[in-house]
Amino acid sequence: MHPWEAYQGIYLHIPFCQHKCSYCDFISYQGQDEVARTRYVKALIKEIRSCEAPLPVSRGATIYVGGGTPSLLSLEELAAIFSALKEKGYFNAPREVTLEANPGTVDEAYLRGL
Ligand code: SF4
Repeated sequence: MHPWEAYQGIYLHIPFCQHKCSYCDFISYQGQDEVARTRYVKALIKEIRSCEAPLPVSRGATIYVGGGTPSLLSLEELAAIFSALKEKGYFNAPREVTLEANPGTVDEAYLRGL
């Protein structure tokens, strides 16, 4: 069995926050502009595309987008990330897809878009 086959989940980290909370130990940075976000999303997509081994997503894996505040990404940026996962076959039939969100960063249109 390839070592990757032991994985049953994909975790994607989005390290941006509107404000850095004093108690927070997660890797996250406040004050990052759109340029930084775009560069990060491009790097993340490149990383996804560089993965060699298929993951057993169709056998019940989960996809978790955490942070940070992933809901700071635009729907277009998220769509690009999920497209990359799909291209690699990592989005065939996940059991669950989760995205952390700060309530102050979403509205109804965003939630419907998700
Ligand atoms: S990840 Fe959550 S707890 Fe940490 S700085 Fe961002 S909003 Fe605050």
